[in-house]
Amino acid sequence: MKLMSMNDYNPIPEGSSQYPIEFIDARGLIKLREDENRVEIGFTEKAEECVKNSLYNFHQKPVVFIPIDAAELSAFLGNKMGEAAADEKKNIPADDRVLLDKLANDAPVINLVNSICIEGIRCGASDIHLESAGTLRDSTGAGELRVRYRQDGVLRTVRTIEGSRFPAISSRIKIMANLNILERRQPQDGRITVTLGNDQVDFRVSIVPVAGGESIVLRILGRKAAGSLEDLGFNQPQLGVLRQLLRMPHGLILLTGPTGSGKTTTLNAMLRELVSDTVKIITIEDPVEFLMEGVNQIQINEQIGLGFDVLLRRVLRQDPNVIMIGEIRDSATAEIALRAALTGHLVLSTLHTNDTASVIPRLCNMGVEPYLIASVLRGAAAQRLVRRVCPRCAEERQAAPEEQRLLDAANIAAQHLYRGRGCPACGHTGFSGRIVAAELFTCDAGLEELILGGANITALSAHLRKQGMRTLLEDGLEKAALGITTIEEVEREIILPGEGK
Ligand SMILES: [Zn+2]
Repeated sequence: MKLMSMNDYNPIPEGSSQYPIEFIDARGLIKLREDENRVEIGFTEKAEECVKNSLYNFHQKPVVFIPIDAAELSAFLGNKMGEAAADEKKNIPADDRVLLDKLANDAPVINLVNSICIEGIRCGASDIHLESAGTLRDSTGAGELRVRYRQDGVLRTVRTIEGSRFPAISSRIKIMANLNILERRQPQDGRITVTLGNDQVDFRVSIVPVAGGESIVLRILGRKAAGSLEDLGFNQPQLGVLRQLLRMPHGLILLTGPTGSGKTTTLNAMLRELVSDTVKIITIEDPVEFLMEGVNQIQINEQIGLGFDVLLRRVLRQDPNVIMIGEIRDSATAEIALRAALTGHLVLSTLHTNDTASVIPRLCNMGVEPYLIASVLRGAAAQRLVRRVCPRCAEERQAAPEEQRLLDAANIAAQHLYRGRGCPACGHTGFSGRIVAAELFTCDAGLEELILGGANITALSAHLRKQGMRTLLEDGLEKAALGITTIEEVEREIILPGEGK
């Protein structure tokens, strides 16, 4: 049965001619649209035939029943309950398991948590943060629960809920994630799977006690299939270099950038181009973020001793052509990764460095011999994510003097710059999604010589510049000059990393 989305309707708000909230919740029936000629009623699998029949009589005009998703209805109700909750003043003695259990299984709490999760998925958030901090006080002096979404890399408060509801919400999340609801002193990690229509969405749950309460973070996983390299915002010359690297039969390709710079997404898009019947691809990830058809994906588990290095040794016996390692964190992993690349495998991985040239000294610092690096390294890319100007509300503007100086220094001409004015489509942020700014190189004989000779980072960078590599900053500014992003974004992510986040 095809379910209709409640988004296609503006459900009649509570109060007017809508059914009472308790009826909607208990019977799984909601009025979606009504005029003098007919009533359209959404129903979930919970709705009973006899109740539906009674509505025919009740309305005295033609009635159409439309199947809707129970989770979606629950989210709608959760919003209502969240609003209503502001008026409630309940004091919850928190150490009573029975009471906590009861609270956590209370329909309004279930609906509220569902609504927080489902809205997060809807608006494309990567993480949901729930914090009850003693320092956050509302006007009455009671603590507040703040719900924030990380969207396009930036946190945004989406609602605040009365702090007294926190134990119930926290317990609800712990039950969903199979965690101990009485544990408030130790950090806990778990996983939740939510079914939304035909899709399953996984959340990785992390709960850490903080002064005055707990901090709960839900990372949304496996929400979307990995996109293509084009979708990520690489330009034509960059795509050319990446694809040239992917055609190599063996060797090491490295991606670098800080946490949250989209390395994993790019790696997945690269792997997608390699998927074929004739190639065996194995990944070792922490965690598996995108599920890919035709790829064997393995999740590391340090707790039972299955780290990157241990799994990598095992995986080599699986006769793979391509191996993707989520991250090279230590010398043990670096050593096996390089050995794998040397013995006929194409190895893709990531490193924590600021720019591409630094991958070479970084590998040396991990104890890898320069001759090994020179013989297996095929190329590397560094990337950052910058927010994309919302195409629906983009408007032209003149470059400020400081911006013009940046553009001039990079020798980039820009007629106009753009900014998003803010519109409903972009949640009034002026931005919609993110794209990469990148710098990349392929190894040539000259670079190999420099690596073998133990050249320092200055000499390596100078060589790459001579080879024609555009830097991260230049690529970012070019994308700003094209109106794809803004110079503020380039400053925030590339020039002043770590600030303003
Ligand atoms: Zn917009």
